[in-house]
Amino acid sequence: MKWEVVIGLETHTQLLTHSKIFSGASTQFGALPNTQACAVDLALPGVLPVLNRQAVEHAIRFGLAIGATIAPASIFARKNYFYPDLPKGYQISQYEIPVVIGGQLEIVVDQQVKLVQLTRAHLEEDAGKSVHENFIGPNGEPASGIDLNRAGTPLLEIVTEPAMRSAAEAVAYAKALHNLVVWLGVCDGNMQEGSFRCDANVSVRPLGQQEFGTRCEIKNLNSFRFLEEAINYEVRRQIELIEDGGSVVQETRLYDPDLQETRSMRSKEDAQDYRYFPDPDLLPLIISNTWIEEVRSSMPLLPATLREQWQSSFGLSTYDTQILSQDRATADLFAELITLLGAPQAKLVANFITGELASALNRSNLLAAKTPLSAQQISALLKRLIDGTISNKIAKEIFSLMWEEAINGKLVSDVDQIIESKGLKQITDIGALEALIDSVLQANTKSVEEFRSGKEKAFNALVGQVMKASQGKANPQQLNELLRKKLQGS
Ligand code: ADP
Ligand code: MG
Repeated sequence: MKWEVVIGLETHTQLLTHSKIFSGASTQFGALPNTQACAVDLALPGVLPVLNRQAVEHAIRFGLAIGATIAPASIFARKNYFYPDLPKGYQISQYEIPVVIGGQLEIVVDQQVKLVQLTRAHLEEDAGKSVHENFIGPNGEPASGIDLNRAGTPLLEIVTEPAMRSAAEAVAYAKALHNLVVWLGVCDGNMQEGSFRCDANVSVRPLGQQEFGTRCEIKNLNSFRFLEEAINYEVRRQIELIEDGGSVVQETRLYDPDLQETRSMRSKEDAQDYRYFPDPDLLPLIISNTWIEEVRSSMPLLPATLREQWQSSFGLSTYDTQILSQDRATADLFAELITLLGAPQAKLVANFITGELASALNRSNLLAAKTPLSAQQISALLKRLIDGTISNKIAKEIFSLMWEEAINGKLVSDVDQIIESKGLKQITDIGALEALIDSVLQANTKSVEEFRSGKEKAFNALVGQVMKASQGKANPQQLNELLRKKLQGS
């Protein structure tokens, strides 16, 4: 039997604010335990929550970016449960009316564009955390501590429809969402620090069946790799279970990255009744059209808009524009280089960014935002490639030289000076090229014979030899033409 996978994601994104969603305490990561928990976060009697305007603005910004409806009046509700890291005994969240309703996000899988429908996004506060490791009690005994620094950190929980049909689509969605929230400046995107974490709801159904199968929810996946592995494992588990005559039980599961499997955490029967009710301490969140328009006017151009522009005005592929728009630093660099070098060079610039630059960043383990070379420095190099002063191969060498200087904090050499002082100019003089070719042909009679007996590979070998003899400086196009002429002529 053929199975279809159905996935819906719930993503907790930590909103980038200085202070907490209902208190003035700092949200800075990494402080000593409980140094950033004020009376409100500690739930001392008599304190009252005050909503953080910035958090609401971030929610509006996100809603506008995905084409959602911004609720004119949304409600904060209390979600009641007991846990040591939640001193109030309830979490303030939004339940029946969230601030962001609907919307969609574009993803690309296998060069195919798909729109993922979103259900809602609601504002809520994070809980504190229990500290079990390296924690010693007052008498030296092993103990657990509670750190309330994270309590009250603003979150936007973003929920999709059951719209994805494979782990690859779910990962593409999570990456697109991550890209967008960082792009908008509403989240720092730091997954190690827990700023962006996904719960994956997974079910399977026989292909062609209308109703959805019973789902399991895998909690707290904080890397794209874990998300993919957890879904793939869970899909296999559910299919095997059903094919063996069993049935899936709706439950919450946890992914164990070491064992690469999911395991049951609690069943639906254990699910708590959260006794949601509107929080009497908070007024409805009223968002006026004026406020929405204010936020709209401060929005940056969105990645999807840039992709469309670049595809239509430069003829770039979906693949190229996808990479060029994956973060703002890359998009800005591309735009600056186009300004400096001109639109006709768009493909060359795109190739440089997705090729040479991407692998250099990768090697140095740097994010695009930390690119150590400026657009001016890069364009000076590409200019010499474009005007034929240097070959592609030499351009790569000079680039890696400049890169090394830059990441080691040295002054980056001037491109023209490097070319001059190292004699790297491309050889375009026909006489000089012919002399090189002649000496290579004389020294490689075997390859010459092979070529004449029809082996095209031998030609490439000879090109390689001449290129080597020229120390990478021969103009490749001229070299090809002259060599072929020589081999066919004489
Ligand atoms: P809950 O109230 O238990 O959180 P929701 O209805 O809010 O459940 O759905 C949570 C997430 O689960 C949503 O992203 C939704 O798209 C997804 N989902 C719902 N039903 C299924 C299903 N049968 N298979 C996969 N995902 C599902
Ligand atoms: Mg839900």
